[in-house]
Amino acid sequence: MSALASTSRNFRDAARLLNLDSKIQKSLLMPHKEIKFECTIRKDDETLVSYVGFRVQHDNSRGPMKGGIRYHPMVDHEEVNALAQLMTWKTAVVNVPYGGAKGGIGCSPKDLSMSELERLTRVFTYKIHDAIGVNVDVPAPDMGTNAQTMAWISDEYSKFHGYSPNIVTGKPIEIGGSLGREAATGRGVVFATEALLNEHGKSIKDSTFVVQGFGNVGSWVARLIHERGGKIIAVSDITGALKNTNGIDIPALLEHKERNGSLSSFDGGDKINADELLIHECDVLVPCASSGVLTRENAGDVKAKFIIEGANNPTDPEADDILLKKGVVILPDIYANAGGVTVSHFELVQNSQHIMWDEEYVNAQLKKYMSGAFNSIKSMCRTHECNLRMGAFTLGVGRVAKCTVLRGWGS
Ligand code: GLU
Repeated sequence: MSALASTSRNFRDAARLLNLDSKIQKSLLMPHKEIKFECTIRKDDETLVSYVGFRVQHDNSRGPMKGGIRYHPMVDHEEVNALAQLMTWKTAVVNVPYGGAKGGIGCSPKDLSMSELERLTRVFTYKIHDAIGVNVDVPAPDMGTNAQTMAWISDEYSKFHGYSPNIVTGKPIEIGGSLGREAATGRGVVFATEALLNEHGKSIKDSTFVVQGFGNVGSWVARLIHERGGKIIAVSDITGALKNTNGIDIPALLEHKERNGSLSSFDGGDKINADELLIHECDVLVPCASSGVLTRENAGDVKAKFIIEGANNPTDPEADDILLKKGVVILPDIYANAGGVTVSHFELVQNSQHIMWDEEYVNAQLKKYMSGAFNSIKSMCRTHECNLRMGAFTLGVGRVAKCTVLRGWGS
């Protein structure tokens, strides 16, 4: 099922539980604005190359729209739409004052040099600069982008609008980024995992984990779980997967990845194939890579008792049904990976006050937001007698619908 069909189906199920008027449903589902454009750059060898760029602004009922910019070959109109919609519910679930957006370029960033990436980012920014703004839409990093990308966006945007570092979050500390932002999504995943396991009378240190994906989110998840005494028995990145039932030495793996750029040649585990990883025996499976990895084909073979969605939309609705029937407890993406946008909010708060919080304070606040959201989701689960995904969706969709009506929807 496509990412958009899957997120829209979850939206509709939540809207039904909330008894939302069909006209409100239609309005909430329809994106506020979609922009699709050409990004042509000159490569280092002087040849021209063109990519397609997107920014989808999904909803602004609760505040300026917020969401990452993704550089990945799979970026297309439908995926960006789905991800923008998920941002709307995500910001509402953790109760930060923003709507939802997402953008991206269909490109392979690892095949571009730094100067090509800079040129591409500047063209992208040029194409959207009059559609974004600190009170309108504030981009952030996502898959394939990072603090450096944000610095280029802020610089290019500033050429048209005056010095505006707050036009992005996840920027380098030196130009107003927040301490703890880089680790925030992974740290939020770990706080969410702790909350869920505690509720089930378990803890990280007594559990075994499989982490799929070793980019920014997956590598921080692995590091922080390891620090808390959890045993990571299998990991993967795009170059391969490995397992070690005695527990992978995560600090050694991080060092290896830093030195070699991938984990495939690491000798602290046995190679397995990527499909095997998802169905490996473990207590907790944490998908932290691309969307749609758990499908009706593999869901029946999943052995994990808990799934924590570090990635956006990793579970197809058909897989969801199969897993729920098996008794697997799934902590949904719009809550589990909301740590990034939560610390983006802290970044904007610090920017507006021209102060800098220390990292301990950032992390403590993040924990507070993640615990608060977990309790609110549980309360929705009790009210609507539903699973955690529907608890999170009813919480997020309900909050957005309420603001839409309060601001005068239909008048
Ligand atoms: N790209 C991240 C996400 O998908 C962060 C978005 C943000 O901070 O605005 O949640």
